[in-house]
Amino acid sequence: MSTFLTTAELALQDRARSFVDELIPWEVEAEMNRGEIPPDVLKGQKDKALELALTSINMSERLGGPGYGMLAQVLIQEQTGRVTNALGWVVSTGPSWIEDVVTDHQIEKWIRPTVDGDIHECYAITEQGAGSDVDGIEATARRDGDDYILNGVKWHVTSANLAAYVFFQAKLTDGPNAGRHVLFFVDMDAPGVECVRVPEYAHTYSHHHWEMKFTDVRVPKENLVGSEGDGMGFSHAWFRYERLMIAARCCGAAERLIEEATAFAEGRQAYGSKIADFQAIQFMLADSLTELWAARLMTYETARAIDAGVDLKVQHAQCSMAKLYASEMANRVADRAVQIFGGRGFMRENVAERFFRELRVDRIWEGTSEIQRMIIADQLRKRGIQPLTG
Ligand SMILES: Cc1cc2nc3c(=O)[nH]c(=O)nc-3n(C[C@H](O)[C@H](O)[C@H](O)COP(=O)(O)OP(=O)(O)OC[C@H]3O[C@@H](n4cnc5c(N)ncnc54)[C@H](O)[C@@H]3O)c2cc1C
Repeated sequence: MSTFLTTAELALQDRARSFVDELIPWEVEAEMNRGEIPPDVLKGQKDKALELALTSINMSERLGGPGYGMLAQVLIQEQTGRVTNALGWVVSTGPSWIEDVVTDHQIEKWIRPTVDGDIHECYAITEQGAGSDVDGIEATARRDGDDYILNGVKWHVTSANLAAYVFFQAKLTDGPNAGRHVLFFVDMDAPGVECVRVPEYAHTYSHHHWEMKFTDVRVPKENLVGSEGDGMGFSHAWFRYERLMIAARCCGAAERLIEEATAFAEGRQAYGSKIADFQAIQFMLADSLTELWAARLMTYETARAIDAGVDLKVQHAQCSMAKLYASEMANRVADRAVQIFGGRGFMRENVAERFFRELRVDRIWEGTSEIQRMIIADQLRKRGIQPLTG
């Protein structure tokens, strides 16, 4: 029984946990089949997620979502982190950052079908020459009457193979906002949108990360998100949100790893004893549990502060701290779990092996660990310790 979650929060956590428990048995099938599970099983999971209000969990009631607060979302995402192979992504998170600027046309065409789970989006921001330094992008948007003409090549576009539309970030070439960032809805089947290649990555996910080319893609001005020049602000809002959710999922992954490694250590015999009786093994488990607790407290507390309306810059720093600590913690926990499993921990059918590969990217995407440290240090110098740590 948790002493710091309410009865309602615990019930929500239980609901998400039970749902994820039903996904776990499909992990090895996914791992051995390029991330895929049988379509009818996937459909059943999607339907159940919808029935349990675990679809589009970050979308407001106005946009047709469940309207959860941030702590509620963290509790759900933490559970989805317990399953490998991105099977937890069936619990979807739509483009919640759009709330204040989305038009009726955009709601009807893209957002409502997304919230209802009928279509999916993807994000094309990163380029060959610009990742951490988002302002270095070379993709362009040129105004042509009531349309814009988009050009650029994007990397690592996650879920592109499953998406109906893509958010494309570019810089304006002309007009009063020349050089500033803009973001557009672009339909994946629009003329000029193409997949250049589908690279292989370390994890085995059914969601692929395309390299995409946009050649003279014509979109009407109704596809512009917000106003000219707003593009970077939306990316920051999404990064902030997703960093906290990465922290939550890393806590879930660490919990699963500790659970599995402890169970294995209690059963595995060596030199006439359970390996759990050896201090070397106990210390790895003890360090892992201690670090998980610290990460979980940070993650929950950051979510609570957001729900309480803490200053946006403080949110930014706290989300970075939670992501930095939780992602690095989960990687240490995965490394120890592989060690505890011994040779079995190096087999793809083993949960520790899969997490060992899968968790590595949490130190890279949505801002690398180095970028998180830069954000945190910048806020420390501007605000001091107390506002950032309470
Ligand atoms: C699996 C996967 C999925 C992804 N999905 C998407 C997606 O859907 N859409 C999208 O747009 N992007 C996506 N990305 C891109 C991801 O956000 C970038 O990879 C990430 O931001 C880092 O950028 P980069 O790879 O260009 O590395 P770089 O920015 O080139 O960094 C390389 C190294 O230099 C370090 N570095 C850079 N600047 C500094 C600095 N100022 N001080 C200290 N160190 C620094 C970095 O920390 C890193 O260690 C994805 C990436 C991966 C791997």
